[in-house]
Amino acid sequence: MQVLVTSDLIDQLLRETTQAHPQECCGILLGEGTRIAAISPARNVHPAPQTHFEIDPQALVDAHRATRAGGPHVVGYYHSHPHGPAEPSATDRAEAAHDGAIWAIVTGAGDVTFWRDDESGFVALPYSRDDG
Ligand SMILES: [Zn+2]
Repeated sequence: MQVLVTSDLIDQLLRETTQAHPQECCGILLGEGTRIAAISPARNVHPAPQTHFEIDPQALVDAHRATRAGGPHVVGYYHSHPHGPAEPSATDRAEAAHDGAIWAIVTGAGDVTFWRDDESGFVALPYSRDDG
């Protein structure tokens, strides 16, 4: 299983990360299955945004409402690690919902990795660029 993304989408993730620095950026991944078609940036409402993230709950409500109205599906979430490695942190693992969602993690160094939040923990997902 692999994630399909466009180069534009990767560029957007990197831009969000740079703009939020030194805070973590976060948002929602939209698409179908493992094909990610778009990102929807959200406010990081965590009280310690330099080291944690919490997607603005209203953004999640809006995204799910848009899905029900026929829009793209919420397939997962992204956030950045301004200084951390390109893998889920201990906090990420502790807070994961294990709901099968895709997580993208973007580092300040410009790495992007994708993970599936499975019942047994995060599983790394390779990705390929599909620029149509
Ligand atoms: Zn994290």
